[in-house]
Amino acid sequence: MRQQYFLVPTMRDVPADADVASHQLMLRAGMIRQVAAGVYTYLPLAKRVLHKVETIVREEMDRTGAQELTMPTLHPAELWQETGRWDVMGGELIRLTDRHNRHFALGPTHEEVITSLLRDSINSYKKLPLNLYQIQTKFRDERRPRFGLLRGREFIMKDAYSFHATQESLDEEYQTMYKAYSNVFARVGLTFRPVIADSGAIGGKDTHEFMALAEVGEDTIAYSDSSDYAANIEMAAVKVNYVKSDEAPLTLQKVDTGEAKTIEEVASKLNVTADKIIKSLLVQVDNEWVLVLLRGDHELNDIKLKHELNASSIRFATADEVEQVLGATIGNIGPIGVKDVKIVADHAVEVIVNGICGANATNSHFIGVNVGRDFDVEQYLDLRFIQEGDPSPDGNGTIRFAQGIEVGQVFKLGTVYSEKMGATFLDENGKSQPMIMGCYGIGVSRTVAAVIEQHHDEDGIQWPPSVAPFHIHLLALNMKNEEQVSLSESLYEQLQKAGLEVLYDDRPERAGVKFKDADLIGLPIRVAVGKKANEGIVEMKIRKTGEMIEVHVDELLQTLTEQLERLSQ
Ligand code: ATP
Ligand code: MG
Repeated sequence: MRQQYFLVPTMRDVPADADVASHQLMLRAGMIRQVAAGVYTYLPLAKRVLHKVETIVREEMDRTGAQELTMPTLHPAELWQETGRWDVMGGELIRLTDRHNRHFALGPTHEEVITSLLRDSINSYKKLPLNLYQIQTKFRDERRPRFGLLRGREFIMKDAYSFHATQESLDEEYQTMYKAYSNVFARVGLTFRPVIADSGAIGGKDTHEFMALAEVGEDTIAYSDSSDYAANIEMAAVKVNYVKSDEAPLTLQKVDTGEAKTIEEVASKLNVTADKIIKSLLVQVDNEWVLVLLRGDHELNDIKLKHELNASSIRFATADEVEQVLGATIGNIGPIGVKDVKIVADHAVEVIVNGICGANATNSHFIGVNVGRDFDVEQYLDLRFIQEGDPSPDGNGTIRFAQGIEVGQVFKLGTVYSEKMGATFLDENGKSQPMIMGCYGIGVSRTVAAVIEQHHDEDGIQWPPSVAPFHIHLLALNMKNEEQVSLSESLYEQLQKAGLEVLYDDRPERAGVKFKDADLIGLPIRVAVGKKANEGIVEMKIRKTGEMIEVHVDELLQTLTEQLERLSQ
């Protein structure tokens, strides 16, 4: 490709609203332009990268026997009403109305559409299993679209759905997809980790997220420093054998704590450490009030609470509701004397001796609090976020944290959708059964941004060869010098004939501008044709390492092939 006529509007300055590297670099390298918040045009350079990622995804999916199809973006409301997600999805679902006043949504995911397809086209176990996928634009009206392609409102996803007659068949496909995803992310050059995850609004049970490790990642991964264990912090189980101290129980006493409300304030007022305090939170679980107790230095994991109580929705009480139910302000509530409100506690609370908790009265707390004597707990559960330094739940090693970008997720959906939508088949005995489903997503556009997060320096991107928009950036340093131009032209021909993808900077720009843009765009190898053109010598620069190598044109092709191979390892 000749750069003179190629649309790569590079920019020198970092746009003010772009605060992560991939977003800044994609704007600066002329890859994307924002059209609306979370909505982008992919310029030709980005399109080439997307195409490569999509090709890798297709190859790995096709290899497993999955079949590609395309479903519509426009979904009739009726389909989403069948599963109840027309309501559940709330503001995230982009809705519109046609000229006949019929309601539609722009597809954020395709369980409803695919399940309706399968219920109409498959009726026997003999036609199962099946795995169908598409690569397509998705729409989600994210509350906070940000970080460029990392969280868009319109983005590209590969989504796949599998249908099975037996659980074993689903389990097998899940493993196959897990492997295929690992292949995809390795091939695009990501350092990643599959982690145990929460199934969220989609439903179902077993699920893993594929996390690209990156500082800017919005997810926290809790992993063991000495085993394979890794989970999204939302899901990491806490396995601590808390030991009760043999301290003698003191008498319960109400003390004035004045304006002290937060754990820190109360701890400092009473001169104790936070682990002595029982933190009380009033939560509405479905339609019931529940008082949740945690140790002062622990944080409530609301996803665990929801799972443990089998709830479909939970929310914190407002200040007014706390007043109404417990007769005190948020910073002064506690479990002692509470009636008609269920009390649950994290395991750590069970061993607190002579603790401190709110007294359900203005400006006061109890000290010398002992569980079992002063109040009862209905259930002890695992309710807190795991912390760095906790033992790994698998019994091996200690928990450490890392940040990750979720680039993919695999789910065992089970029969949630097939039951709601009546997608059944006749089994071997002629009995009607709901199809057992799995679903599998890859954020294709997010993956491109994740690759940049992992492969860049302050000057620009450092593409891994597998997804680089071109392999070689050929620079003619002085377009006024005939020797340089003619050598550049002939190399451009020769390298392309050999099957290399070449971006040829034939612009009438200064060498300095060309070097800067080449670093910014970040193709794996730069070949500069300059002053030594008359000797047949060009200068090669490996973008990732900064190595500079002078090469004679006779050896150029061979050297480039070797270097690209080396960079692909
Ligand atoms: P997140 O938790 O980041 O919002 P999700 O779990 O809701 O993502 P899924 O429903 O699992 O997303 O979608 C499959 C994949 O699509 C995700 O793993 C992610 O890579 C990608 N994806 C989801 N939302 C976005 C978005 N707003 N912008 C870009 N990619 C996205
Ligand atoms: Mg997900």
